[in-house]
Amino acid sequence: MAHRRLANLLQQLLLRDDVAIYRQLLIVLLLCLGLGLIFIGSNQSTPQSKIQTTENCGVEETVVNLQTPVQIAEVIVESGITRTAPNDEATRLTPLPKGTKATVTSIKGDWLRLGYGAWIHRQEMQTLVSNTYPQALVCDISYRKLKDRTEVIFPLGTPVPISVKQSDRIFTLTLHNTTAKNNIVTINNDPIISRIFWQQEKARKVKYTLNLKNTQQWGYKLKYEENKLILTLRHSPFTPTFTPVSGFRGPLSGIKIVLDPGHGGMDSGAKSPEGYLEKDVNLIVTKLLREQLELRGAVVYLTREDDVELSLADRVARINTIEPAIALSIHYNHANTVKSGKQVQGVGTYWYHPQAVGMAKFLQKYMVQNLGRPSDGVRWKNLALARPTIAPSVLLELGYLSHPEELQWIIDPYEQQNLAMVLADGIVEWFSSTR
Ligand SMILES: [Zn+2]
Repeated sequence: MAHRRLANLLQQLLLRDDVAIYRQLLIVLLLCLGLGLIFIGSNQSTPQSKIQTTENCGVEETVVNLQTPVQIAEVIVESGITRTAPNDEATRLTPLPKGTKATVTSIKGDWLRLGYGAWIHRQEMQTLVSNTYPQALVCDISYRKLKDRTEVIFPLGTPVPISVKQSDRIFTLTLHNTTAKNNIVTINNDPIISRIFWQQEKARKVKYTLNLKNTQQWGYKLKYEENKLILTLRHSPFTPTFTPVSGFRGPLSGIKIVLDPGHGGMDSGAKSPEGYLEKDVNLIVTKLLREQLELRGAVVYLTREDDVELSLADRVARINTIEPAIALSIHYNHANTVKSGKQVQGVGTYWYHPQAVGMAKFLQKYMVQNLGRPSDGVRWKNLALARPTIAPSVLLELGYLSHPEELQWIIDPYEQQNLAMVLADGIVEWFSSTR
């Protein structure tokens, strides 16, 4: 119909003996061209894999120049430790990557309270004065599949504070001081992510939920590159792209494992009444365990080989650099307390992130069953060597030096060898249970 009307109009115009006819003809021609383009456009389907975006992607949202400048703080360390209250004992929140910026709403001693509610030590921040709030508008998020990991990239106008939560088959990332404008992120054949969706929880708080294909999560990291937040999720060491390091054969073929013998040097750790030092037993047992894991094909790294002092931060840094499949910290315990008339004994396993709880429970059960030792339980505890996020990490307390009978088991070379074998078998079994 539109075409016929246009033809009529064109005919009428052509019949008119008017000087303006050429101008009108030009208008009609332009109209036709416009209609044609709309027609072509409507026939093209919107590609599903493309994230729909709006204007101002990745730029700071409407910059309001404030009358009174506000105090802004920026994280200057690799990972800023955030807490629920202004003291070192308060619960930890998700650490903030270097470069994160937020407004400072109050100051208490050496602690700064950031706009989204967390407290952070002044030492880890530099303060600036700004006449705009650090707020981001996120859209056009993308993801890329790499050989052994998937990266989700969030272009932001400014590096905003974040929070992470892991649960069964779910990874959630909350961006504070952020408004989201993107629609759907279609995931094609990713080994770990099945779906990503988002929810604007509050005016300036957006939650991204990543539905995962498997129960076991293999570690993650978050960092800012300029104003882009990069979330890295590691694939299972058994994904098809996994290529074992040649020369290592066995059920753990080519799997990287970090073992951390606790304490060392001036720091002896626990001490038995007879003078046996935890640092020494830790190192002996860790080396025996390395031998057993290597026999099963693993590529094992130790945080220390000798009786040297090593800070917790250095141990964690080693784990972050090596990026193993798992990390285990080896310790022995000590207790002065007596529980219902008996001295405390048994093996215990400690975890912090949900991605390590499966391994913690499995190894604990396996050790207790196969060593015939009492169980001191699987516990959630905020320990530095359970905190790395790059890989499932647990801390093992393999017995109490303070318990006279358990001490005999702890220091017996035959039992130490047996413990290393049982633990290595447990690790093999756990890995195969995650496949
Ligand atoms: Zn210890």
